[in-house]
Order: sequence, then C-alpha cells, then structure tokens
Amino acid sequence: MAIIGIDLGTTNTLACVFRKGQAELIPNELGVYKTSSAVSVLEDGAVLVGAAARERLITHPERTAASFKRHMGTGRVLSLGERRMEPEELSALVLRQIKADAERYLGERVEEAVISVPAYFNDTQRWATKLAAQLAGLRVQRLINEPSAAALCYRQQTGGGSCKLMVVDFGGGTLDVSIVECFENIIEITGIAGDVQLGGDDIDRAIVDRFCAHCQLERLDPAERATLFRQAEAAKIALTSRPAAMLALQSGGQSHSLVLTRPLLREICAPVFQRVRAVLRRAVQEDAGGIDDVVLVGGSSHMPVFSDFLEELLGRRPTLAARPDEIVALGVGLCAGIKERREELRELVMTDVCPFSLGVATWNDVRDQNPHMAVLIPRGTMLPASHSGSFRTLHDNQRALRFQIYQGEGYYVSENLELGEIEVPVPPGPAGKHAAEVTFTYDIDGLLHVEVCGSGGDRRERLLLNDKLQLDEEELAQAVARLEEVRLAARGTGEDRLLVERAAALFAQAPARWRDEIAAALNGYRMLLDDGDLIALEKARREMRARLDSWEAAIFADPWEEETDV
Ligand code: ADP
Ligand code: MG
Repeated sequence: MAIIGIDLGTTNTLACVFRKGQAELIPNELGVYKTSSAVSVLEDGAVLVGAAARERLITHPERTAASFKRHMGTGRVLSLGERRMEPEELSALVLRQIKADAERYLGERVEEAVISVPAYFNDTQRWATKLAAQLAGLRVQRLINEPSAAALCYRQQTGGGSCKLMVVDFGGGTLDVSIVECFENIIEITGIAGDVQLGGDDIDRAIVDRFCAHCQLERLDPAERATLFRQAEAAKIALTSRPAAMLALQSGGQSHSLVLTRPLLREICAPVFQRVRAVLRRAVQEDAGGIDDVVLVGGSSHMPVFSDFLEELLGRRPTLAARPDEIVALGVGLCAGIKERREELRELVMTDVCPFSLGVATWNDVRDQNPHMAVLIPRGTMLPASHSGSFRTLHDNQRALRFQIYQGEGYYVSENLELGEIEVPVPPGPAGKHAAEVTFTYDIDGLLHVEVCGSGGDRRERLLLNDKLQLDEEELAQAVARLEEVRLAARGTGEDRLLVERAAALFAQAPARWRDEIAAALNGYRMLLDDGDLIALEKARREMRARLDSWEAAIFADPWEEETDV
C-alpha cells in the first residue's frame, strides 16, 4: 500500500507518490494536478470539492467555502447552506477527494499520508491538520514543513554540492521562510520564520478595497463581492505577464472599472510587502550569514513586483524555482518515499527545527502579578527534542503545582498562545520545599507532548493539549461517521460538473449582451447530460470547453493586449 504525499494548500491541494525512483504528481479526476481547496454544498445536500466548487463561490457564495485553512484550529464554524462545518471537516472533505482520486489513479487503497503544513503553523494548527487527515480516513505518517519539502525537492532538482539557501514560500494564505543548509546528502533546516495569515488572498483583498475606494462603492452583495475578488485575482495574475489589466463590475445598475498597472499593484501591495519584510528580517536575524541563493516557491512568487521587492530588500535577485506551484508537493512525495524506506532515497537525511519557543508560566514570588515564560524548548531547536524543568511551590502548604503551557516569543505569557494547563498534587510543606518536574517533548512533526511528575514521585500525568483536536478512538469513530454521512457529489461527472459551474459563473459575471448566448449553451448542455448519448456528449463537451475559453477570453479581455504583445 502506497504512502502518498499531500500538499494541503490554502488555495490548491496536490498529491504525489514516489514511484519508479521519482516523485510523481497524481492527477485528479479532471486530469490536472491542482485541486482547488474549495467546498460547496449542492442543493441536494451532496458536497462538491475542487474547481467546480470554486466556481460556485460566484454563483452560490452562501453555500461555498474556500481558504478555510486559514481558520484551522480556531474552532470557528462556517455555514454552507444548511450545513455547519468546522475548518478541519472542510479540509477533511478535500483530503477525502484527494484520497479517492489517488486510489483511482494508483489502483490500490491509500490509507497513509505525509502531509505538509506551513513551517509557522503552531501546535493547535498542526493537531487540527492531523485531525482533518484522520477524519478523511488517512493515517498521518509525518507532518513536514512546506518550505522543508520544497528544499528537499529543490535539492533533488539541482543536484549535490554544499550550499546555504533561503527558501521563500509565498502562497495564497501563508508566507514561510526557511534557511536551509545542504551538505552532501544532509539537508538541515537551520532557521524558520513566517506569517500564517499573509498571502495572495491579502493582495486580492487589497485590490478589491482599492477598486471600491476608486469607484466609491460602499456596499456590495455577496455575489458582487465574489465576482470582484475573482476579477482582482485574474488581473493580478495577468500582470505577471503583462503591464496592465482591467477590472470591471456592474453594480447598482452602473458599470465601474479600474485599470491595474504594475506600479499601481506595487503601491497596493505595499502594506502586504511591509509584513513580508518583517518576516524576512526575522529570518535573517535567525541565521542568514553566507546565503548562496534565495529560492522562491508558491503561486504568489510568480509576481514580478514581488521579486523586484525582494531584490531591493535583499540586494540580490531571487531565483524562481522550477515548477514553483508543484515543488512543495513533489518534496512531500519524496518525503513519502523516505517514509517507505525507498532504496533510492536511503541516504537522504533531513533535519528540521521548531518554529516557536515553548514554556510554562512562572512567578518570581507571591507578589508577582504578571507571570513570565520559563522557556523549556527555545525556538530553532532541532527536532525531535525533549527538555525538562523543575518548579517549586510558592506558598506554604501549597497542595498542587499548576503548569500553564505557552507557545511564543513574548517575555510575558500574556503575549503568547496558551496551549493548555495541567496540575499535579504535592505533599504539604513550607514554600519551596516541594517541586514538580515537567517534560516537554517536541516530536518530529512539530507536535508537543507534555508530562509532569510531582515530587511524590509516583504521580505522572500525560497532558493532552488541544483535547478538542485529539480524539480517542471512540470519539474519532463518531466524528468520522458524522462526516461519512456527507456524500461527495457523484463521481465520474467531474468535468461535466465543472463545465456547468463555469458556465453559470460566467453567466453571473458577463455583461447583459452575452448572457443569452451563455444561457442557451448551458441549457443545451444540461439537456444532453440528462440524455446520455455518449458520443454526442463527448462532442458537446469539447465544444463547450472551447466556447467557455473563448467567452472568458472575450469577456475578461485586456484592452492593452495588442500593444503589449509587441
Ligand atoms: P497555497 O499553497 O496557499 O494553496 P499556491 O502556492 O497554490 O497557494 O498559490 C496560490 C496563490 O498564488 C493565489 O493567491 C493565486 O492568486 C496566486 N497566483 C497563482 N499564479 C499566479 C501568477 N501567475 N501570478 C500571481 N499570482 C499567482
Ligand atoms: Mg503552498
């Protein structure tokens, strides 16, 4: 049984397997590698995952969710029509689709996976990812940091030699920066920094805000907002290969438009880039002496304004990795191969570090109001790591020692993320007589395990942090059963579904003069789908694809295309 590697992205999810001596991406039902991380609930209650669901952001925004990776581990509940789902469940549905596609492609059952997470994911977000996989019926063999996976693949692509790299992964929802040292077959991650709420989505939002300010639009309905977001993203992507693009929206009976140029995009991106700068500064402070190359991966790193910005900041031109959108997935595939102990990868060794410091709250004395962090595992410690600390009672006859566990870099615990707390009883006695020992173990996946031992010696307790995210067997079985009731939309119809949703979304966005034509084509196509003559359907499918392509090209035409092609 194969172990598959999964890059569970904010925007796109990809799967990869190690076969015939190399990492091989797994195409989905539509024959493409990227599956949109989008979920939509159909009117009959079935759930649609992928590109067709993404189209429904435009036509059914209230039944559709995307970018939910941003909310992993927050406990936030999202409403999709009559269903209410947590981000872990939505991610589980994406993973279930990926699992099904992989099983079909490989012709065998898939139950084990290596999954990548942003290096800067905290403990809660990592547990949430692990839970999502379990809900999808996958055992997680390893969580690997996304930039580490990218580094692993980059290393394979570029061949041996020793070097020091800065890998910058700028995707849809997260920015991750890692410092990587390569020596022979050893890949060592020596520093990481990041921001898990910063990516292409924020650039799209900034463009939308600028559009609204420019056109003095104060209120947009959900469908108009979704349309505008789509246009903002399309214009941003167009600017990667052209100097200008146009956004246009019909709202309140009026047409509004904005011309986006590279200088304007750069201006709009300024606040986002300020935050990128803060992350890079942290990475450089960690350890950046003697960097040989800055390697860019992730969808947003295609943007020329981004490379220009980095070049100005770092004083060197960064290198856009080959296959920047797939490199993380390919790296996760290699990692899956390492897990399977494949001969070809036997010599490859990779070490990683923890992104945050971990500690417990401590008080200097009884009058101390504001506890600070006693750090047990400092950030940047190589994984796996296990450190202990001993803490004494503060009061006479104190009956128990309570440990509050935090993750973060603030001096005061109030500035850090609380992960949980645990108490152990101690025998009565004067202040300071009794103590308890607490042991933190950070495993290879960056997940924390905690153990405490009171000075009685016999009481040892293991703490489950994030207990909402760590289910015992019975709870897990219930959660899986609950999710299994959710029916994935009928398979084998993926492309038809996508064509229908694309046409519907296009209809919603198109100026009035196009609509009749689109509606006629959509109706005709839907009738054929019900009819089921296979040959006619295949012909219609091809035709519909071509018509949609040409409508999209015409409707979102770039007024400068002619000039800029010269
Ligand atoms: P994630 O790993 O977060 O799922 P990806 O690495 O797939 O994300 O990147 C998705 C982001 O990249 C989106 O915000 C998308 O708009 C942006 N993107 C993709 N291609 C381009 C391009 N050619 N130019 C600019 N931005 C792009
Ligand atoms: Mg990514």
